[in-house]
Amino acid sequence: MGIKENFTAIKNQLPSGVELVAVSKTHPAEAIQEVYDLGQKVFGENKVQELMEKYPLLPKDIQWHLIGHLQTNKVKYIAPFIDTIQSVDSEKLLSEISKEAGKNSRTVKVLLQVKIAAEESKFGLDLSEARALFQKHLNGEFPNAEITGLMGMATFTDDKEQVKGEFLILKGLFDELNQLQTLETLSMGMSDDFPDAIECGANSVRVGSAIFGRRDYSK
Ligand SMILES: *Cc1c(COP(=O)(O)O)cnc(C)c1O
Repeated sequence: MGIKENFTAIKNQLPSGVELVAVSKTHPAEAIQEVYDLGQKVFGENKVQELMEKYPLLPKDIQWHLIGHLQTNKVKYIAPFIDTIQSVDSEKLLSEISKEAGKNSRTVKVLLQVKIAAEESKFGLDLSEARALFQKHLNGEFPNAEITGLMGMATFTDDKEQVKGEFLILKGLFDELNQLQTLETLSMGMSDDFPDAIECGANSVRVGSAIFGRRDYSK
């Protein structure tokens, strides 16, 4: 199947009210344009440099989401245009995003990335760190970074029960924080596990290879 068929098949599987972030990392601007032309406006990239290369080549009404680990010294490059930074995993980063967004007279939406996977390698805040940062946000810190939700990645495993258990932990935190201030976005689920994530309460999914095909890192 081609990109067009893949995209349509994914769209048809998503219940209404679930946002699709089309993850275009490693794929060229032409592939993104093809999906854009089918009506998709929200795209996710995981590297600042790659995003900066593609950004000028593509329509200006794309809502770009940064989904990969972000170093504070790179925030300034994307602050003028980024729609949402999904991968906020430290107070230092959140504070830098607010500062740089302010310099550009704008507010950047952010998701707190919470570590729910058992694997050591995954970035993210633990539950108590996420609660503490959210409290500071409620107290008016980080005025130009608007926390609109949470993002998480489950363990890379075939064990569906484990994956769902991890998603439900994040859903629990989402419900808890949502009592304090209404949150919009619970971002969980990728190509292999998005139906499970939706079952567990995700209202935004990040799908790459199921749309664009396998990533070729050798190029
Ligand atoms: C690459 C990536 C995705 C998409 O992964 P696929 O398996 O290709 O759908 C989603 N979220 C994050 C954070 C990623 O880095």
